[in-house]
Parts: sequence; C-alpha cells; structure tokens
Amino acid sequence: MLELSHVSAEYFGKTALREVSLTFQPGQVLAIVGPNGGGKSTLLKTAIGLLPPTTGTIILDGSPLKALNAKQIAQKVSYLPQSRSVPDITARRMVMHGRFPHMSYPRRYTDADRQIVIEALKQADALELADRSVKTLSGGQRQKIYLAMALAQQTGTILMDEPTTYLDIAHQLQVIALARKLAAQGKAVVLVLHDLPMALAGADRLAVLHKGALAALGTPEEIYASGIIPKTFGVALYRMQTENGWQYYCCPQ
Ligand code: ADP
Ligand code: MG
Repeated sequence: MLELSHVSAEYFGKTALREVSLTFQPGQVLAIVGPNGGGKSTLLKTAIGLLPPTTGTIILDGSPLKALNAKQIAQKVSYLPQSRSVPDITARRMVMHGRFPHMSYPRRYTDADRQIVIEALKQADALELADRSVKTLSGGQRQKIYLAMALAQQTGTILMDEPTTYLDIAHQLQVIALARKLAAQGKAVVLVLHDLPMALAGADRLAVLHKGALAALGTPEEIYASGIIPKTFGVALYRMQTENGWQYYCCPQ
C-alpha cells in the first residue's frame, strides 16, 4: 500500500503537485483523471521516488519511501511510464526486465522466472509477440509488452500512466478488465486514464487532479454526484443504467 500525505513536487522551482493526500489501496482500482498538465504523471513519478517531494511524506508498505533504495521500491511497485524509449530487443527479453528487481548479480534467470514471464505475456494477451523485436511492434502491441513487463514484476502495487493509449477499444477494455482482475487478487492498481466514461465505469475510486491539486476523490457515484467533472473539464456528463451497471458519457456543455 502506498500512502501519500500532503505531497508536493516541482520542476525547476515551478510547483506541479500541491499538497496531495491519497492512498493507493490494495484490492482497488483507482483512476487518476484530469486535464492535460494537471499533474497526473508527476503524481505517479513522485509516488515511486523518481521525483523527490518538496513537502509531505510517502509511506510504502509501512516504510518511508525515502528509506528504500530503487530495487526495494521496484520489488513492491511496478510503474508503467507514459512514454519510454524503444529498445532493439525481443518482447520476451523486455518482459524479462520485470524480473530484475527480484534478482541479484550476476543475473541468472531461473525456470521460475521464465514461467512468470510467459504467464505475464499471456495475461497481457501478447504471447504471440514474444519473439518479435519490440522495435517492429505497433504502438498498441508495444503497450501490451510494457504491461506484461509490469505484471512480470509481481508487485503488490501497480501504477500505469495512460496504459490504454494506442490501444483499440477492445484492448482498452481488456486493460480495464485486467486491472479489475489484479485488484481482485488484492493488488493496488492505479491507472491514469483520459477516457472519463471508462474511468467512471471501471474504477472503484477516482482522483481528479486539476492544476496540481486533488480536486476530488471518491467513488464513481460520488464523483458523478459532485458535479466536479463538468466543472473541471467543461463538459456535460450523463449516465444510463444498463445491464452492465451505470454507463457514463460526456457531451459538449
Ligand atoms: P499530466 O500528466 O496530468 O498531463 P504532468 O504531471 O505531466 O501532467 O505535468 C504537470 C505540470 O508539470 C505541467 O505544467 C507540465 O508542464 C510540468 N512538467 C511536467 N514534466 C516536466 C518536466 N520534466 N520539466 C518541467 N516541467 C514539467
Ligand atoms: Mg501525463
């Protein structure tokens, strides 16, 4: 479990995150939403120690984050960044990187590691891509490989920054379904999502980040009722009861 309390962060003296208090709870999918530049990526980077907070405290599984080294953090939290370089290696090797935090030098993969990698590729619906070079994959296929790498890390907390980018609608829904499955296994899953209807229908809780501050935190029901979405995004929000529960949609205001 990751607990952020009054966390602020800045770039070159300019504040990007203001006093955010938020807990990433086991067994839940938390969607982080907000307009561009609202601080969503900064929040994840700060939560995992890539950016030092200027105020506040971060506690990871009971320990202060600043007392843990990168390997210890990576054993507990996997993080799928919004953008990354594309190496010229096979997808399988890329997913193997997810095992690094669990290995000591010299790194030797065991059969168990290889099996975990295959399982992660299967879960991400990407096993057939295993022997392709990551460089030759489409954006959506790459996204699945990065997802598999995060799964191979086998952490209790999973942070994904826009994991549905580049994916077609069926694969976007698969990512949400996978997030729900991981949460059902007891993991804390945090997704930065741009698609508000998808976030409202798929997450247990939503955090709305606006201008670096937490504008709202609550269940989809609470967020819908609060009127924060129209206020923050400048769109009208409606919902419809369906056999799959409430489905939401946004329209011009
Ligand atoms: P979001 O992910 O919600 O779109 P970000 O967290 O990326 O927003 O950015 C929050 C703010 O911090 C923005 O004003 C952005 O311009 C600024 N910012 C983000 N990354 C950097 C960086 N590496 N250097 C300087 N400013 C940055
Ligand atoms: Mg971002």
